[in-house]
Amino acid sequence: MSLAHRPRVRFAPSPTGYLHVGSARTALFNWLYARSVGGTMVLRIEDTDESRNRPELTDAIFEYLAWLGIDYDEGPHHQSERRERHREAVQQMLDDGRAYLCDSDDNELAGTEMAEGRAVRFRTPPGATVIDDVVRGEVTVAHAQLGDFVIWRSDGSPTFVLANAVDDADMAVTHAIRGEDLLSSTPRAVLVAEALGATPPVYAHLPLLVNEQRQKLSKRSDDVSLASYRQRGFLASAMANYLALLGWGPRDGVEIRPMAEIIEQFRLEDVNKAPAFFDVAKLEHFNGVYIRGLDAEELLEALAPHLEADRVPWPPERYRPAVVAAVVPLVREKLRTLSDIERQVDWLFCPEVPMDEASWEKAVVRGKASAEILDAALAALADCPWDPEAVKDAVFAVGEAHGVNRSKAQAPVRVAVTGRSVGPPLFEPMVNHLSREEVLRRLRQARARL
Ligand code: GLU
Repeated sequence: MSLAHRPRVRFAPSPTGYLHVGSARTALFNWLYARSVGGTMVLRIEDTDESRNRPELTDAIFEYLAWLGIDYDEGPHHQSERRERHREAVQQMLDDGRAYLCDSDDNELAGTEMAEGRAVRFRTPPGATVIDDVVRGEVTVAHAQLGDFVIWRSDGSPTFVLANAVDDADMAVTHAIRGEDLLSSTPRAVLVAEALGATPPVYAHLPLLVNEQRQKLSKRSDDVSLASYRQRGFLASAMANYLALLGWGPRDGVEIRPMAEIIEQFRLEDVNKAPAFFDVAKLEHFNGVYIRGLDAEELLEALAPHLEADRVPWPPERYRPAVVAAVVPLVREKLRTLSDIERQVDWLFCPEVPMDEASWEKAVVRGKASAEILDAALAALADCPWDPEAVKDAVFAVGEAHGVNRSKAQAPVRVAVTGRSVGPPLFEPMVNHLSREEVLRRLRQARARL
């Protein structure tokens, strides 16, 4: 491909809120397209709304793109720095008779001199605009529906469509890949581009993301912030793989795969227009697969931030990383998110058993012969050898003596010691990392609670 024909795409977020999964999907699809065709990825921060922009939101965009592994070849451009260029483009349209000035009552003014207090409207010609959208096919919009729209506000600022269309033209964007919510603004952007003598980009409007109720994802009712998924312990690799499948799928149907393969498989024309279900359970499944794909060292490193002092219930001096390193191989299959680790190991570090009342109720209060089992376990564990096999045998023998199976015998002991009815295999960590005295104390405490 010659340089002139190389596709150029852009991710053009407005920093008016924290990056959400929908924007991340848009960024990713632009990047996948650029990387799959040898094109250029431009980053443009659309920060013209001064009342809503905050610098930390722009920083968060950089941070989360980097987290997901989405790099860019050009930029970041800041739209706010292009005000003079936007003014010049509007002036050009005024001079060409493609736009006109309005006073504060919205009456058309004669003349073409832009000034404070004067807005500018685009003079929409009769007819219709046809957008040949890569995803949605032909979309025809009658100009009568658009009317003469504002391109410059009386406060001296460009409107979204003006700045967006001018920047796409100046940055030689060939493909505008963006959310479907922007489709309604597209005919206006096309008209502006054409009025400036530019070729509008090819548009590809990505399908809406919807929740389980098939409603558009919303900040209020759905967890949409990328920061919160990261905080909860989703790996960037799992997240990026999952996001790639929201509105697109590889022709061979293999969904969980390295990004290099996704790039190879990606075809913009395979994006479909049906709303894409943002399925958190599926994302968790992906995350589990990616967690299991980490080697021991990588996994410990990934878990570390989730065990930092400010996030966990135990006092820092009780934390022992070597204990975590020993327990992780026993629980890695169970981890759906990295933050799940806390509940697997808290009982080893908390001075008091982190008792889950539902587990207590189910496995101890309603369990058969719990009191007798706890009494007998106390007696047996007081003098059996303190090694995992011997302790296990002792507990199972207690069960046998009371006519309950192994798991029923283990259940009250587990809840007494760990506070939960589910968790890692019990005997190895319990015996290796808690003292006999501590285990007996917990059994006694549970017995007394009954
Ligand atoms: N700045 C717009 C937004 O964040 C996107 C513009 C575009 O992609 O064309 O909604």
